[in-house]
Amino acid sequence: MTTHAFQADVSSVLELVVHSLYSNRDIFLRELISNGADALDKLRFAALGNDALYAGDSDLAIRITPKEEEKPLVIEDNGVGMSAEELAKNLGTIAHSGTKELIERLTKEGKSGKPDLIGQFGVGFYSAFLVADRVVVESRPAGEAGANRWSSNGRDGYSLEACEKEGRGTKITLHLKDDAAEYLDDYRLRNLVKTWSDFVAHPIRLVTEDENEGVKLEQINQATALWTRSKSDVTEEQYKAFYQNLTNDYEAPLATLHARVEGTWEFSALLFIPKNAPFDLFDPNARRGLRLFVRRVFIMDDVGDLLPPWLRFVRGVVDSDDLPLNVSREILQDSKAVSAIKKQLTKKVLDLLDDLAATKPEDFKSFFATYGVVLKEGAGTDADYRDRIAKLLQYATTADVGTTSLEGYKGRMKEGQKSIYYLYGADRTTKADSPYLEALVKRGYEVLLMSDPVDEWVVEALGNFQGAPFENAQKAKIDEAEEASKAAEGKLAPLLTRAKEVLGDLVREVRASARLVDSPACLALPEHAVPAYMEALLRANGR
Ligand code: ADP
Ligand code: MG
Repeated sequence: MTTHAFQADVSSVLELVVHSLYSNRDIFLRELISNGADALDKLRFAALGNDALYAGDSDLAIRITPKEEEKPLVIEDNGVGMSAEELAKNLGTIAHSGTKELIERLTKEGKSGKPDLIGQFGVGFYSAFLVADRVVVESRPAGEAGANRWSSNGRDGYSLEACEKEGRGTKITLHLKDDAAEYLDDYRLRNLVKTWSDFVAHPIRLVTEDENEGVKLEQINQATALWTRSKSDVTEEQYKAFYQNLTNDYEAPLATLHARVEGTWEFSALLFIPKNAPFDLFDPNARRGLRLFVRRVFIMDDVGDLLPPWLRFVRGVVDSDDLPLNVSREILQDSKAVSAIKKQLTKKVLDLLDDLAATKPEDFKSFFATYGVVLKEGAGTDADYRDRIAKLLQYATTADVGTTSLEGYKGRMKEGQKSIYYLYGADRTTKADSPYLEALVKRGYEVLLMSDPVDEWVVEALGNFQGAPFENAQKAKIDEAEEASKAAEGKLAPLLTRAKEVLGDLVREVRASARLVDSPACLALPEHAVPAYMEALLRANGR
């Protein structure tokens, strides 16, 4: 037997898990079941190319055995199993690169809050220590004879040794804490499985022993993939549980999309928009994407080709009828079926967002606050969807309506107003008294107030919205103003000459203007000037 220290991060995560999730400790069961189901999926996938891996046992299932007397709870699967190296790597380290950051954030924000953050890191297995003071994992990889035993109290590292195990797969023995004996109660177990794991696509069997009847095996979940059911047969609660199983999120999803698409390319999809953005939403190296199945067989995780990058926050499952089972990531990249699915899904997600905006404006607002910047990326880069995305954009505005969509703005445009005015640079409070706005607002024009660094770039990419061009308030020409300024110029001529003398090369020209109402002067950009943000950028680069 050898003993090993946990990687430093594991100890911190374990401590955090136990502290922050204590009131939520039921989750350990669904985490271990979901690992078992993943292991069964992986075996089934591997066996597609190598039938021998089944070794006569193709009845894939998860078994839960409560042992009332000695108190352990046993959860086992006949899936792929783990080698000694895999036990050490999977259960003794944390692969996720963002873990350090997580620990820092959680320590800062306090251990009591933020269970949703913890979930993002897939600390799934470690949740076993919420209910157990010793966890023993015995595992035998499919296709091999030897097995290994991993054992830990969750504090002092773990030990690893060879052991005997009948059949492939993983057997987890939880030596329950004194105050966790409730999890030996079969009624309680049935209930938890019903709530959290009913639609896990493999049978979950409860093993009970009865003095008269002996050992009994009873399937306690429905074991059909949720997305294969028709919408009307699925409850909100089931969607939520499915989502939480998939993502480890502790919140309900903000929106759910369940669709079956028929036609040349047939597939089912069950997609979700999480309430909270993942911590690595802007990390270009983050693994992300949808979980791909082909005719109910799990193929792979994090498939990024099924949605455009500006919908990368969408989570969920796609089940294709057309792809080959032996599909690889390379094949996916230039598969006709995949690009057809991508197109359909993109359209459906945009429909979902339109619908959210129309029917649940509050939810849409919070959606946009969380993911608006990512959508703007799409408006800037993806010409195919620019117009659809533009309809979803929300901006602060001088009109008294909170934030507005571009359609909302257009609806309020004054008679004869041709452009959509915007001012880039700050928010409502600081902009309320900007001299650039004076003339426009005075005439009853509404001005969008943009503050996001990408806003000006997006406006340039869009050019116009449904025929109305965007016009920078800093450059805006106002017809009446032109005439008035001509008239005023005569009277002001001596002052203008003097101002130009004093300012010299700092300004191109000094002009009289009627655009101002209360302020005596302002800096304005000539019509074809470099936008302010570009100028700041050029200056920052020393040009
Ligand atoms: P996640 O499931 O998000 O990857 P977990 O902490 O739940 O994170 O599990 C860590 C890893 O340990 C899994 O990715 C898997 O490789 C391995 N693992 C856990 N449980 C099992 C199991 N029952 N059978 C095979 N491998 C497992
Ligand atoms: Mg897991």
